[in-house]
Amino acid sequence: MRGAVIHAPGDVRFEELDDPKIIQPTDAIIRTAVTCVCGSDLWPYRGAEPIDAPHPMGHEYVGIVEEVGSEVTHVKPGQFVIGSFATSDNTCVNCRAGYQSNCVRREFMSTCQADYVRIPNAHGTLVATDEQPAEEFLPSLLALSDVMGTGWWAAKAAEVKPGSTAVVVGDGAVGLCGVIAAKELGAERIIAMSRHESRQKLALEFGATDIVTERGDEGIARVKDLTGGVGADSVLECVGTAQAMEQALRSTRPGGNVGFVGVPHEVTVDGQELFFSHVGLRGGPAPVRGYLPDLIGRVFDGRINPGKVFDLTLPLDQVAEGYKAMDERRAIKTLLKP
Ligand SMILES: [Zn+2]
Repeated sequence: MRGAVIHAPGDVRFEELDDPKIIQPTDAIIRTAVTCVCGSDLWPYRGAEPIDAPHPMGHEYVGIVEEVGSEVTHVKPGQFVIGSFATSDNTCVNCRAGYQSNCVRREFMSTCQADYVRIPNAHGTLVATDEQPAEEFLPSLLALSDVMGTGWWAAKAAEVKPGSTAVVVGDGAVGLCGVIAAKELGAERIIAMSRHESRQKLALEFGATDIVTERGDEGIARVKDLTGGVGADSVLECVGTAQAMEQALRSTRPGGNVGFVGVPHEVTVDGQELFFSHVGLRGGPAPVRGYLPDLIGRVFDGRINPGKVFDLTLPLDQVAEGYKAMDERRAIKTLLKP
């Protein structure tokens, strides 16, 4: 089979790789239906994470089950499945507490930009759809494996409630999905922070009520202006930079909450400032597995259409161009078709 391998910053190649095989009885092998490039894939691509040796890439997937290990009984070959970027047994104490992305048997997916993928912990990770979904649903179902589930978690962690005001920091795919989540969870006012016209347009389509283009102190001041001088009830931090975290913490009202889902890079939080702010802070890798059944239903019901974050579709063998387009911000998110 073939798949994407990163060799160095800016150097992603589509190469011949060994076919994946069942290693554990809890594994499954799927044939990729569609996959994609994640904003977090850009960290190593831009040299912000070290690349010690060439390695496969990709952690978002939907596909058709090809083969299952002996302990995988809830899905069978031929079924269409979705799973999280973090695998889980869905039964351990952390899974039962709703933190499947911190499963004691967790393995992060990392080989999904390929024709076939081995899914560890398939018994707890994969969710099958009732039937083969129509082609039009594939982008949205794919989005559930990471960005939509992550946007959902950001909104949950920030405790978005009906009638509340939410701010979304970050206009990448996760931020835009955060807007969808805030809307679905009943936020009355959703302030999207974005300075890119095409992303602002999508944010408004997804339910944002206000757009703030300013950043830093000006951005914080603008949010305060829009929220009676105190800040928002809930702020979704969907970037992972120090500036984004500061923006989030200082845009939240006393007693409000920040949900942070951007993978932090050189982010530090000032303990004194956090203490005196009365802002709640929770985040981490999203427990996507727990949200999948609900979110799959919302996609098939037509309530949500997170697949719209894909504004570039390429054949999988052009994965390198998919990275380049996102790196240069010509694309929000690249969908890849094997
Ligand atoms: Zn578990």
